[in-house]
Amino acid sequence: MRYRRWDLILIFYSFLGRKVLLYLLGGNVFKIGCHLSISNGFLGCGKEIIGIGGNTFQYFSRNPQGGKARDWDQKDFLGFLEFAKNNGIDVILTHAPYTLNPASAKDEVREFAYICMKDDINRLENFDNALYNFHPGSHTGIGVDKGIEYIIELLNSVMFDGMKTTILLETMSGKGSEIGRTFEEIRRIIDGVKLKDRIGVCLDTCHVYSAGYDIVNDLDGVLDEFDNIIGLDRLKAIHLNDSKMPFNSNKDRHECIGLGTIGLDAITNIINNPRLKDLPFYLETPNDINGYKKEIELLKESYKWD
Ligand code: FE
Ligand code: FE
Ligand code: ZN
Repeated sequence: MRYRRWDLILIFYSFLGRKVLLYLLGGNVFKIGCHLSISNGFLGCGKEIIGIGGNTFQYFSRNPQGGKARDWDQKDFLGFLEFAKNNGIDVILTHAPYTLNPASAKDEVREFAYICMKDDINRLENFDNALYNFHPGSHTGIGVDKGIEYIIELLNSVMFDGMKTTILLETMSGKGSEIGRTFEEIRRIIDGVKLKDRIGVCLDTCHVYSAGYDIVNDLDGVLDEFDNIIGLDRLKAIHLNDSKMPFNSNKDRHECIGLGTIGLDAITNIINNPRLKDLPFYLETPNDINGYKKEIELLKESYKWD
């Protein structure tokens, strides 16, 4: 007798269970991790994230307040690649320092942004598929138009033909003179970038909620808007944070998952949304490592697709 496809699927289901079946059918792995200190190297981060149940992580390319990056350690890097392959660690996310501000009125601040980003990308080219996230910047009084012009100038000067790293613009809450509060501003930056296949977006849930995008009551409406203005194909990563501040407050204060104004239900919807479920999610919540472990466990229980 011949089995039809559904018979086989049922047999597999009863023997192997839902997880294996979803995997065989191309079901996906939940890509979840958190921000980690890079002080023990890439391999240290790799071991740490596996130890707390995650499979990807974010780290600062250098001290978040700027300064020099750690010396490149090729042995650590190769050790990490091997460890990552064996342990299913997905693409990791590098975060630029907060002091990097290509939209500044000050020449020396923009010069630092250039040197820092150029150097960070240089290092990241060691990877095959690095993601490099930065805050577009604050125009510090010279206006959004001039700020955006400077950001585009920086990107076009550090990006080069054949580069493997993808640079991500982070969506911002809009505090002070921050650029990147609206999808339109992000779109204008992308429009000015020459190497369009190497530019993307990292959506921060705390920031967009503070910026006035109602991901709690109308997630699909927000994603439609993102798609219309930027294009969802540009979305490469999610910073998964709850918020201490009310909707549309333009304030940037992260909260632990489920304890803030976004709440666990909305966050569960976000990780399970069919348009988002395949993306890597990075926690930047105010936690120690044990707190991250608990949040990762909670989110893995809430994820329906694996
Ligand atoms: Fe950030
Ligand atoms: Fe963020
Ligand atoms: Zn933030």
